[in-house]
Amino acid sequence: MDAVRMHAASPESTAIVDAVLDYSRRRMLAADVPLDKPQSEAELHRLVGPTITDAGLGAARALSVFEHVLAPACLTTSHPLYLSFIPTAPTMAAIAFDLVVSASGLYGGSWLEGAGAVHAENEVLSWLASEFGLPDTAGGVFVQGGTIGNLSALVAAREAAKARLIAAGKDLPTRWKILCSVEAHSSNKSAARVMDADVLLVPAGEDGVLRAEGVREALLAHGDEICAVVATGGSTNFGIVDDISGIAALKDEFDFWLHIDGAYGLTAMLAPEARHLFEGVERADSVIVDPHKWLFAPFDCCALIYRDPDSGRRAHTQHAEYLDILTDVDEFSPSDYSIQLTRRPRGLPMWFSVATYGVTAYREAVSAGLALTRRIADEISRRPELRLVRDPQLSIVVFEREGWERADYDRWSSALLDSQRAFVVPSSHAGRPNTRFAILNPLTTFEDLVGILDTMK
Ligand SMILES: *Cc1c(COP(=O)(O)O)cnc(C)c1O
Repeated sequence: MDAVRMHAASPESTAIVDAVLDYSRRRMLAADVPLDKPQSEAELHRLVGPTITDAGLGAARALSVFEHVLAPACLTTSHPLYLSFIPTAPTMAAIAFDLVVSASGLYGGSWLEGAGAVHAENEVLSWLASEFGLPDTAGGVFVQGGTIGNLSALVAAREAAKARLIAAGKDLPTRWKILCSVEAHSSNKSAARVMDADVLLVPAGEDGVLRAEGVREALLAHGDEICAVVATGGSTNFGIVDDISGIAALKDEFDFWLHIDGAYGLTAMLAPEARHLFEGVERADSVIVDPHKWLFAPFDCCALIYRDPDSGRRAHTQHAEYLDILTDVDEFSPSDYSIQLTRRPRGLPMWFSVATYGVTAYREAVSAGLALTRRIADEISRRPELRLVRDPQLSIVVFEREGWERADYDRWSSALLDSQRAFVVPSSHAGRPNTRFAILNPLTTFEDLVGILDTMK
């Protein structure tokens, strides 16, 4: 077979592109997307049969297998009643533009190769930085997700701490410590493991909030060994915001790197009514927020922003003879700011979406999620058989059904998914089973949520 067949323009290529675009178009514009559900590996094996063959199945057959068997075995995480973990809810413009990013051979790692794309991504990062109150000079890069964003920021923090101690003529600690709340996201603890650093877990209050006193005590006790203090701007389980303003104020007393893990919740700063919860973010040395969570971008996308981008660059620039042409210049190359070299310009779908709809539409969509959460929390409090585990601060509401054991939640959750009504999984807090709604999709309605509560009577 001709070696160029798979790449060249031809009637066969046209048919493949048409079939894939047609599928994408139907899926994007469907009024009612299915929730779908997983299948066992044995069942998929039985239904699909072997797909990797010497001769190839042909596009029609491969696409058909995907559309009729594989895709229905994947949950639609952007479904309005996918309410577990943290859902995703990309805008139409963002989803459509994701295809453009793949279609165009764009490389987002360096200015030399991707100047236009990088410029657009940087526009979005600058806008976010200004929403967070960071200086005009703040900047960074879109990385794959919050886990990589946190790790990249914490590595930059450690390099900065090292430089500070060396400049002061002090010894470096044998082990670095990263301070965070017991309620902080697992990715911070995972970052510490990757960095071979220790995690200094500070207890949060009953309400889940990490407060300045605990951080202050730890800074007094461990001082120079602490390379970063992580405050959470919206915990993943509860959507609780740490006392960022109190923790940030400790900078008047101690010299430390403040990282804000806002993967899920920092988005709420776009809503004027929630901004006050995040006072102090403007003093952060680094922040992350995941547009693939509450900023309406498709997977996978985390915005990592440094107050001083040079601190990211010093930690992350990779050097090699073949890369000197990129790193010996002053141009802004995104790969210099995180743990990754090759990158798609994954911020472009969000850029296109914000450029299309404007910032006001984003504020309104975020406010709507906050208001709906408040409303359903009130409804939960009114129901005698239900109990809020904590009062929601953002868009996650965690609640218990009186008298239910874990097995009751399991049965109820499975029935909701089997009937394709909703995806709401059991969770737990302090050893007690519960369930939660994470609400951020503008297509989720109060009536939908009330309908789910009715199934718990
Ligand atoms: C989701 C989340 C992360 C991890 O982000 P990924 O994109 O899943 O890697 C980190 N921190 C918080 C607070 C999160 O909610």
